[in-house]
Amino acid sequence: MKGLDIMVPDPKCELEHKTPFELLVAVILSAQCTDKRVNQVTQELFKTHSTPADFVKISQGELEAKIHSCGFYRNKAKAIKEMSADVLTRFGGQVPANFDDLLTLAGVGRKTANVVMAEAFGGDNLAVDTHVLRVSNRLGLVSTQDPNKCEEELCKIFPKKRWSRLHYQMVLFGRYTCKAMKPECEKCVFNRECPHSRV
Ligand code: SF4
Repeated sequence: MKGLDIMVPDPKCELEHKTPFELLVAVILSAQCTDKRVNQVTQELFKTHSTPADFVKISQGELEAKIHSCGFYRNKAKAIKEMSADVLTRFGGQVPANFDDLLTLAGVGRKTANVVMAEAFGGDNLAVDTHVLRVSNRLGLVSTQDPNKCEEELCKIFPKKRWSRLHYQMVLFGRYTCKAMKPECEKCVFNRECPHSRV
């Protein structure tokens, strides 16, 4: 979309990571949490824990304390430990570079698997998170609140080679311009044709 190329010319992942495994941990932590907060937490966490073996060894309680500020820390600690055990025992400690294998990991759904494929392995994947869902509905590209259906429809509309870039453009556009509560329509290139424009 040309408008998104204008609004977000340089889309990129804002979750800091050095390896596919660190990215996987960061994406799990990012549920219902800002990337900024996740980066603050992982900056310290990854100094001492950055491999599947590290997260298998750490106790549930100790991990909960380290990720507490990300919210939902009990579930997230459990998910990270189970996913780490899976990566270690079933994939030799390496995050699989394959969407279907990623989906078999504990706690990994389509959104997470798509983000990891696109960002860590350069795949053509279109992850649908809350921002992508909101933006694509507001722009009239889809009409559904089901993330899987939204992914399916967007993938039909846009060529495969655009999927990954489109994901990050919509995430950043939704995060900084087309915000959930107060979209900044006055600075949006879509404000003449958008059915939800406030200007
Ligand atoms: S005009 Fe407003 S509601 Fe529509 S896409 Fe732009 S920021 Fe979002």
